Amino acid sequence: MRVRKIISQSTVDGPGNRTAVFLQGCNIRCAYCHNPETQAMDDPEAREMSVQEVTAEVARSIPFIRGITVSGGECMLQAGEMTELFRAVRQLSIESGHPLTRLIDSNGTIQFAEHAVLMSLCDGVMLDVKAWDNAVYHRLTGAKDNSAVIQNMEWLLRHDKLTELRIVCLPGMVDVETILEHIAKTFDSIGKIAPVRLLRFRPHGVAGELKNHPMPTDEQMARYTALAQRLRLDVSVR
Ligand code: SF4
Repeated sequence: MRVRKIISQSTVDGPGNRTAVFLQGCNIRCAYCHNPETQAMDDPEAREMSVQEVTAEVARSIPFIRGITVSGGECMLQAGEMTELFRAVRQLSIESGHPLTRLIDSNGTIQFAEHAVLMSLCDGVMLDVKAWDNAVYHRLTGAKDNSAVIQNMEWLLRHDKLTELRIVCLPGMVDVETILEHIAKTFDSIGKIAPVRLLRFRPHGVAGELKNHPMPTDEQMARYTALAQRLRLDVSVR
């Protein structure tokens, strides 16, 4: 698999302490991307690693971690390799007697429903909802529309695989209130819920048109949080 980097113990890539594996390559181009070096598939700083090599890295941290998170780039571009990695980590978990959950961090542009084996080995997905309006989504990411993201959100929710929804709060570009309202409606119509995390946009490390865009103020973040609470969402802020 094409790997950008591995953080052996991370506390910001899902619940608890986890080994985070960042795969190389992304299929969209977010205006606020903090890791533009992960976008090209063939960046010379990425390295080809076998599933066994990545699993050996995970094994080294076993006493200290609750599982692994595979991120990117967009890790679903390497869904086949990720399936094998999850299978190997499940086996490691059985052999070591130490439970290791397996999570995916994704932009939601590739259909999870088409990867049944991967999803049977995966405990959950942390999914980005970057915009609800198609024109805004296109402006932010370069992708045609966000229909795949919405379909994925619904499919993951129905199949109890939605670990968390993430919204980057970017006032003036992303209508956070509209996204929250649509998420609440989707939860109501399906009859299930998932945690929602509001991420404060930070320009540090961003290249391109948003590098001078202001961060949301505390008041704006408090307004978003209050709305989410009124909509009965399980919301947190980072
Ligand atoms: S999905 Fe993630 S890695 Fe890809 S361009 Fe957007 S922010 Fe960057």
